[in-house]
Amino acid sequence: MTIFKKIIDRDIPAKIVYEDELCLAFHDVNPQAPVHVLIIPKKEISAVDAIQAEDKELIGHIFCVIPKIAKDLGLAEGYRVVTNNGLLAGQTVAHLHFHILGGRPMMWPPG
Ligand code: AMP
Repeated sequence: MTIFKKIIDRDIPAKIVYEDELCLAFHDVNPQAPVHVLIIPKKEISAVDAIQAEDKELIGHIFCVIPKIAKDLGLAEGYRVVTNNGLLAGQTVAHLHFHILGGRPMMWPPG
């Protein structure tokens, strides 16, 4: 079981900013920007690689929720959405998650 499943199940605490029946969003414990929130599906999907056709609506839903969270967190001037897939990309938690980063200018290309 991943640490994010434990957050979903309320076995460990998190600073939750949004929740509905399909997804959960909470502040990253090690923020890389003034605002750094993670949004995750409640369904256990390990990574982008593991997304199935049946998850289309769920993933679409998450991307409909992201702008609402960004607006609530004051990111009207812009923000970045990032997902790391696999070891080389730096994925450390095997539960699909999208980073929402903002509150400072973002560099490109990313490291
Ligand atoms: P990634 O490296 O893309 O897999 O992202 C995993 C993210 O989860 C990292 O930014 C971590 O700081 C974050 N993280 C790990 N454990 C927790 C936790 N208990 N609560 C909030 N964020 C966490």
